[in-house]
Amino acid sequence: MAEEGFNAYKMAQQQFDSIADKLDLDKGTRELLRKPLREYHFTVPVKMDDGSVEVFQGFRVQHNDARGPCKGGIRFHPQETIDTVRALAIWMTWKCAVADIPLGGGKGGVICDPHDLSDREQERLCRGWIRQLSKNIGPLEDIPAPDVMTSAQHMLWMMDEYETIEGAKYPGVITGKPVGMGGSLGRTEATGYGVIFTTREALKELGIKPEETTASVQGFGNVAQYAIELYMEYGGKVVSVSCWDQEDSKPYSYYKEEGIDLEELRSITGRFGSIDKVKAEELGYERLPGEDWIKHDVDILIPAALENAITEDNVHEISETVKLISCGANGPITPEADEVLDEMDLLVIPDFLANAGGVTCSYFEQVQNSNNYYWTKEEVLGKLDDKMTSAFYDVLNLAKRKDIPMREAAYMISIQRVAEACKARGWL
Ligand code: NAD
Repeated sequence: MAEEGFNAYKMAQQQFDSIADKLDLDKGTRELLRKPLREYHFTVPVKMDDGSVEVFQGFRVQHNDARGPCKGGIRFHPQETIDTVRALAIWMTWKCAVADIPLGGGKGGVICDPHDLSDREQERLCRGWIRQLSKNIGPLEDIPAPDVMTSAQHMLWMMDEYETIEGAKYPGVITGKPVGMGGSLGRTEATGYGVIFTTREALKELGIKPEETTASVQGFGNVAQYAIELYMEYGGKVVSVSCWDQEDSKPYSYYKEEGIDLEELRSITGRFGSIDKVKAEELGYERLPGEDWIKHDVDILIPAALENAITEDNVHEISETVKLISCGANGPITPEADEVLDEMDLLVIPDFLANAGGVTCSYFEQVQNSNNYYWTKEEVLGKLDDKMTSAFYDVLNLAKRKDIPMREAAYMISIQRVAEACKARGWL
């Protein structure tokens, strides 16, 4: 998302360049991997309910498909920019590689605010997005999925439009569909649960029991809610969550020392993860500025909202009690903040490892679509736990062996895997 002075694409390239130096990558590999392979920029005209026409700007970026078809979400956001989409596509490539699934990286977006669109207008926007791109995506080329402010319903409209154009059934063209319409059980929970599978292993490594920990979470959308659900099942206590307040156009944190009641908060939360501030206060939550989520004396911080959440400006506000940061969101820590965190006595599970559960489950969804045979939720979540745990230890073991932060180890593993695939194909 656009924010003055912050450019996610530059940040993704900066992160790549620093690892490319450490891996001593040759010039060709660097040039290929630091930019997307392909980009589509297009307009989507939508007939509005009042008879007028609005024209929306859409994007799809395919960063790298050497390991398999591109994979990545579609965001609907008023401040969406092509550079954010580029960065997210790059991070998807590393994410699929670190999770060791046979997919590459892509990302899409539309500059729009779904809060201002009726359901019918959103449907027309989804169908229009597919009409502009149907020749360039597909189960064997590029498979979109939901992301910020897009849902299973949006995916279903998109799949339906694609199937109408192609004249056949292609459930594997898109993931994150509703269960019963080609969706996988466990997909809704997958990203948040994946964050906590890796958090659980990190706590083992730190010798701390989950039931003796507290956490502060930024965000209260899909990732945050399911991360909180599993963390609380393991016995952890969440004292603070935060969200964007649409009415006031700013974020708030909601704090309760004895721990939040997840179901109670869910019952007063809107479709896009905004908590009703009046009802929250009636229920005894202290409403604090959104920025305060980072300052609490907790053991674990879970940024699960948007990118650029922990920066050089606020990294020093992190309490000394924090032992672990599990990155649910994409790109929540800037490289400058990473440098400060590297000097602090805490463990950071990097975003593209911690939140790889979503894409891993999307991959499972596609496998089920191809076989037209659907697994139980236990089977899906069991396979997800195996994949996440194994990816976590690949990264942790390399980090320990080389005495480097987990972020650097995760980058090394994924960049090497993608570079090897490009070389094996003879591209380099
Ligand atoms: P979502 O739209 O369901 O929720 C986003 C949440 O963040 C909402 O509660 C919103 O109010 C809150 N928020 C927005 N701006 C905020 C701010 N400035 N301060 C505090 N809270 C703020 O989105 P999501 O699907 O939960 O995704 C969250 C993050 O996780 C994004 O970075 C996304 O790219 C990433 N991610 C999502 C998935 C997935 O499967 N949904 C997978 C991997 C990564």
